[in-house]
Amino acid sequence: MKILEEQRVLITGAGSGIGKVMAEYFEKSGAQIWICDADEKILAQCLQEHPAWHGAHCDVSDEDSVNRLFEKMTQSFGGLEILVNNAGIAGPTAPVEEIDPEEWRRSVGVNLNGAFYCTHLAVPLLKSTDQASIINISSVAGRLGFALRLPYASTKWAIIGFTESLAKELGPSGIRVNALLPGIVEGPRIEGVFHARAESEGIGYEAVKQRILNNVSMKRMVSAKDVAEMAVFLCSSAGKNISGQSISVCGNVENI
Ligand code: NAD
Repeated sequence: MKILEEQRVLITGAGSGIGKVMAEYFEKSGAQIWICDADEKILAQCLQEHPAWHGAHCDVSDEDSVNRLFEKMTQSFGGLEILVNNAGIAGPTAPVEEIDPEEWRRSVGVNLNGAFYCTHLAVPLLKSTDQASIINISSVAGRLGFALRLPYASTKWAIIGFTESLAKELGPSGIRVNALLPGIVEGPRIEGVFHARAESEGIGYEAVKQRILNNVSMKRMVSAKDVAEMAVFLCSSAGKNISGQSISVCGNVENI
């Protein structure tokens, strides 16, 4: 028997990136997969690659869109054991006085409101199962101050409070709630962050990358697979006594 046999999981923003890799690992562990993504093209391509998965277009920052997602998901799944609040955006890289308030609202909308809308609808489903888990994807920017990335860091810190509060509230209902804090994850997203930083500071891309890796104890990036394996572990019976925790998967990022 696989470790997540018969578990139904919903992963937001899983048409690409870390969410997609998590979905692949949950599937390998025996779970049934529902995903959503705000990008129709990415979603369609992902579902074509993974015909056993279910999915729907959804912008998690839009309450009506999340309502429609849950209607479709409950119709086909009939319930849910695991919710992974993964969808997130990097937000602007700029000094506070230059941040467009609309970009601030968008970051809060996706990174924080999105997790709330999904959790709000998932909890009644999770409460009627035996072994439920919520994983919230924060970031090392959710435990370290991050100059020039105020909206991102603020929302990722908020996700830690969201996690710790929900863990206390939902523990008596048998629902575990943990946050994962990825560090510098290899892939196109982080490349974009390095480029944006290089541009805003007026220095070269390689110089930015080296400076950032110098602040990691293990002197390397992590992979989406590292995050996915930790998520599967937390949702399995091996993680049955782990709740309310904020777990960094980052090679120990010391500063950002
Ligand atoms: P990504 O941009 O590669 O993928 C995110 C996916 O979410 C995309 O498919 C995108 O279309 C989708 N998405 C974006 N906005 C959405 C919305 N409003 N509703 C639904 N889907 C939406 O990002 P990623 O690197 O895979 O990041 C996933 C999570 O991990 C995010 O919460 C991010 O903040 C966090 N994280 C990433 C890193 C990193 O280095 N990549 C580090 C720390 C934390």
